[in-house]
Amino acid sequence: MAEHSGPLPGVDYPGTFPEFQEWFSTERGCFDFLAGLRWPGGFVCPKCDATKFWRTGDGLWMCRVCQRRTSVTAGTLFDRTRTPLQTWFAAAWFITAQKNGVSALGLQRVLGLKSYETAWAWMHKFRRAMVIPGRDVLTGTVEVDETFVGGISRGNAGRSSSKLGVMVAAEMLGPRKLGRIRLEPTLKEPLALVTFATRTVEPGSRIKTDGARELRRLSGLGYQHDYYTQLGGTKPAHVDLPGVHIVASLLKRWLQGTLQYGASSDHLAYYLDEFTFRFNRRSAKNRGLLFYRLMSQAVNTEPHPLPSLVSDQPLWE
Ligand SMILES: [Zn+2]
Repeated sequence: MAEHSGPLPGVDYPGTFPEFQEWFSTERGCFDFLAGLRWPGGFVCPKCDATKFWRTGDGLWMCRVCQRRTSVTAGTLFDRTRTPLQTWFAAAWFITAQKNGVSALGLQRVLGLKSYETAWAWMHKFRRAMVIPGRDVLTGTVEVDETFVGGISRGNAGRSSSKLGVMVAAEMLGPRKLGRIRLEPTLKEPLALVTFATRTVEPGSRIKTDGARELRRLSGLGYQHDYYTQLGGTKPAHVDLPGVHIVASLLKRWLQGTLQYGASSDHLAYYLDEFTFRFNRRSAKNRGLLFYRLMSQAVNTEPHPLPSLVSDQPLWE
């Protein structure tokens, strides 16, 4: 069986930093790369389906038949940006090259951005591209549980005490060997964990949970359900659900370490997306693959103008 059907370093994406610098030493190099991701079979005019074009100005493809101009960034995460794509590409590289990612402050410093607000907005734009809807569900043996993350507002008095629930689903490939994960903030509704499991785990799979009564519905929903009751309360939870336990402790460490200022609860879902994006690619042999995935998802992600990112939260997280 051929192992290498996926994108290759040095061919589909830069495998090293020198390669990155060489590929994207010009704006044109960046536009070409985006075009390759957006039109993998070559440019097709969205108006008349013609495939012959001229390049007219930065990032514009003009149809030779109907003269319509198409921007390679229009309708993507980079829509209407006035910042050179080279700076965006550098941001994506820094975000993905580090195992744990970067904070907005770190990104601001490394790119020399004038404002923290810009760095913050870019981080959030990229997070919107980290998890795509309709992705594959988990299969095999999957542990499902809820954990709590705390202290994730900025830490000023009065806002920092509440703990937030996070639902965790973790594929188990062996006794302590983890596969892919899914994470979502716990919704304030009955049976939240049950509906989370049905959304993220393929029917027919084996789901392991604690002994909460509501979870016993899972066996009637097409799953093999194993649950553990804490007899006598002597056995710590991580004995029965080691995968969830490992994921929860890594998540807490990451939230505390990388974000520096903590996350506001409004944005928790997006931080979980970033953690998931990184975790599910933790064994990638080449970090450039994460850059490639992030960029290919970015050209398929709707624009997120700043006001849509901010909601009513202060910019300082
Ligand atoms: Zn045309």
